[in-house]
Amino acid sequence: MPKNLFNVLFPVFCNGCANLLLKNEKVICTKCLHKLPFTHHHQIKETEIHKTFFGLVPFEFGASFLYFTKKGISQNLIHNLKYKNRQEIGTYLGNLYANELKDLEIFKEIDFIIPVPLHKKRFHERGYNQVTTFCKAIEKNLIIPMLDDVLIKTQHLKSVTDKSKEGRLAHNKNVFLIENQHKIEGKHLLLVDDVFTTGATIEACAKEILKIKNTKISILTMAYSQS
Ligand SMILES: [Zn+2]
Repeated sequence: MPKNLFNVLFPVFCNGCANLLLKNEKVICTKCLHKLPFTHHHQIKETEIHKTFFGLVPFEFGASFLYFTKKGISQNLIHNLKYKNRQEIGTYLGNLYANELKDLEIFKEIDFIIPVPLHKKRFHERGYNQVTTFCKAIEKNLIIPMLDDVLIKTQHLKSVTDKSKEGRLAHNKNVFLIENQHKIEGKHLLLVDDVFTTGATIEACAKEILKIKNTKISILTMAYSQS
């Protein structure tokens, strides 16, 4: 089928503004592409991530690609990626970002990409982890392998009888676990998530990883929420 006939029969809409895409446009329209709210974190020494994690989580490099603006393009992109199975958005953003990151020296030192995982129940409901295609694009462009069998999101194993405050706190700290730890001993790991909001998820993941001998972490997210 000729491509323009395909577009007429199956119109493709911009994931940023919902207007019809032209036949040479993919994922988002040219207008949205030019309006993407870049953070330029990778060119800044002290980013918002540094401010959030100062004295809390040691990391080598931390950057978000876009600002997450309410009712803006980036919110639509993340929403469509997360809830509408538009996994090509992750690939698109990953390719764009990799092009910015490829010349940074720090990326030559990173051994593996670790996606922030979903709990397996959530994974089965959604059918995919929304950060996977983004990670794969980074993996392919920067030639850093992804490991998705190391960081696991688990339900707590707290006994029903343990209702003490300490027990609940301990549980909250055990949302993520490390498996196959031999794979990451002595390695520099790039932790990747969709949106950096309070930093609590990244912090919980980073703390588990950093328990493994001689590990270092860097942080990359698709978007950073200022609220
Ligand atoms: Zn658009």
